[in-house]
Amino acid sequence: MDLARQIRENLLVVNEKIAAAATRSGRNFEDIQLIAVTKGQPIEVIQAAISTGIRNFGENYPEESLPKIMECREQGVKWHMIGHLQSRKARLVCEHFDWMHSLDSLRLAEKMERQLAQNGRSLPVLLQFNVGGEESKSGWLANDENSWPALVAEIGQILQFPHLQIKGLMTMPPLTVSPQEARAYFHKLVNLRDYLSRQFPEAVWQELSMGTSSDFESAVEEGATFVRIGTGILGPRPARM
Ligand SMILES: *Cc1c(COP(=O)(O)O)cnc(C)c1O
Repeated sequence: MDLARQIRENLLVVNEKIAAAATRSGRNFEDIQLIAVTKGQPIEVIQAAISTGIRNFGENYPEESLPKIMECREQGVKWHMIGHLQSRKARLVCEHFDWMHSLDSLRLAEKMERQLAQNGRSLPVLLQFNVGGEESKSGWLANDENSWPALVAEIGQILQFPHLQIKGLMTMPPLTVSPQEARAYFHKLVNLRDYLSRQFPEAVWQELSMGTSSDFESAVEEGATFVRIGTGILGPRPARM
């Protein structure tokens, strides 16, 4: 089947599931933004997705995404960085992306703030937390609620940076868990958001970026405002070269 038609069909199914999950939890479909995750996907897939009306794309690797971003200029596309970002690549994201979902250290925040100030630009940012506690995951370690007070000083510093517009939180649950188990992690991120909004009531904590192809319905039921869906809309990723 042609690529655009396949993507359109997948998108319809995903949107129906998002709408149903929103209804089940008393939320509005309009409050949930879908990000199509295009890491590993070639430009043809992105163009096909654009032809179905998708305008928000998520990428994990700045170098890989740059040619795609250049190719899609003038098409009203928004780019979301969702992968771990090494500070030495901060410039690429500060110059070319519209959202940063994966801010995970004070060091990176400082680097991005300096770069954005230089460029005279500000960027909407989400703070990434590791609520599953796995060693390998990026994000501030936040699986144990007793550790939350220790995060406050650093988050407070980041909130002071004028060019980083902190908008909320992001997480990626452990890969091995079922959608039902993932729900507990999403719930923990909501609790952490509520905790941070009590610590910093003047800041904005509205956005929650959580849920992928395998668990976005649980994420929406728990309060996701961004879902990041790759394979469920675009099909399998080509093998990495
Ligand atoms: C790859 C990726 C996704 C999308 O995963 P799918 O299983 O393809 O939906 C979402 N979020 C992050 C951070 C990713 O790296």
